[in-house]
Amino acid sequence: MEIQEYVDIKNYSTFKIGGQFRYFVVISSIEELSQIYVIAREDVKYKNTPIFILGGGSNIVFSDGVINVVALKIEIKGFEIINETDEYLDIRVGAGENWDDFVKRSVEMNLSGVEAMSIIPGTVGAGPVQNVGAYGVEVKDIILNVEVFDKNINEFKILSNLDCKFGYRDSIFKNEEKDRYIITYVIYRLSKKEPRIPNYPDVLKYFADKNLLNPSLENIREAIIFIRNSKLPDFRRLPNVGSFFKNPIIENILADKLKENYLNIKIFPIDENYSKIPAGWLIENAELKGKSFGNISVYDKSALVLVNNNNASFDDLIYAKNEIIKIVFDKFKITLEQEPEIV
Ligand SMILES: Cc1cc2nc3c(=O)[nH]c(=O)nc-3n(C[C@H](O)[C@H](O)[C@H](O)COP(=O)(O)OP(=O)(O)OC[C@H]3O[C@@H](n4cnc5c(N)ncnc54)[C@H](O)[C@@H]3O)c2cc1C
Repeated sequence: MEIQEYVDIKNYSTFKIGGQFRYFVVISSIEELSQIYVIAREDVKYKNTPIFILGGGSNIVFSDGVINVVALKIEIKGFEIINETDEYLDIRVGAGENWDDFVKRSVEMNLSGVEAMSIIPGTVGAGPVQNVGAYGVEVKDIILNVEVFDKNINEFKILSNLDCKFGYRDSIFKNEEKDRYIITYVIYRLSKKEPRIPNYPDVLKYFADKNLLNPSLENIREAIIFIRNSKLPDFRRLPNVGSFFKNPIIENILADKLKENYLNIKIFPIDENYSKIPAGWLIENAELKGKSFGNISVYDKSALVLVNNNNASFDDLIYAKNEIIKIVFDKFKITLEQEPEIV
């Protein structure tokens, strides 16, 4: 285990924005993880430097300059079947495994549960943090347990699905226990039953067009890859962090007013007081789709995604973000909020 200094962040961020990590270590095993915490506690050189956990860097925005952290790049690998019945298989997967490698392997083994989340970038270990999801499925639907290192007591623990308090793009890892746990392994229960077509308009249309009523897992994975590639930019060509803004929750009084003024508006009721409105719809209807703000653009096929066109700086991004928030607010009186964390 080597502690490197002044490591370029751009190589570890799918947005290709950011300065340098003051310290950077690749963690390949749980032994290395405990070891680094002993070093961070006892060695005067690192003692006062906060530890930051990094997966694939696909849901974080990094600032420029030197970020004073010890960045732990989690590369704990593993794919182990730990339990099997006629109906399902429980698999323990290392936090540092690439998420889509895991999805691909599960589909190849004819196990269902993760296929709708094909080609989401990032690592297995980051999945529980924001309860990653797509096309109506979330990791919480298939997670049995999450193995963690508890920084507060320097011990390894197993958390149950319920302990994680999963919500929409939410969990204890993002909120009440932020910075306490490092996820080392995730245990998934995948089904041997016939897969179901994800109940989502684009996916239903894809199979209706093909007249395929009982698609295989491989067919579903292909459909998801096709749909995602037609809407989302490949971060290797056009650096981005996926959805940049959260879908705002607004009061129903405002929702009703908007429905009167915009007949094509998509609003999803939550309860008698609040509704959710797609941030992408707001940005698109503020005529910002495809628009550039310096080196940052609103992606022309999905208004929710901002792309780094040409070596953008953190300041370029903040300028673009603030302009978009202002233009949307002036038009709809709704304030957009950023989704990815800023470090
Ligand atoms: C093109 C594109 C499309 C995307 N589509 C989707 C989508 O459909 N659905 C969706 O939910 N997300 C989507 N995302 C966002 C992103 O892929 C997911 O949030 C992913 O889980 C992030 O994984 P990561 O390994 O890159 O995490 P990182 O960005 O490295 O980290 C994210 C957060 O998790 C923490 N973290 C990472 N690993 C661990 C660990 N082992 N233990 C504890 N904390 C950890 C980090 O500290 C940070 O707070 C998309 C992103 C892109 C670029």
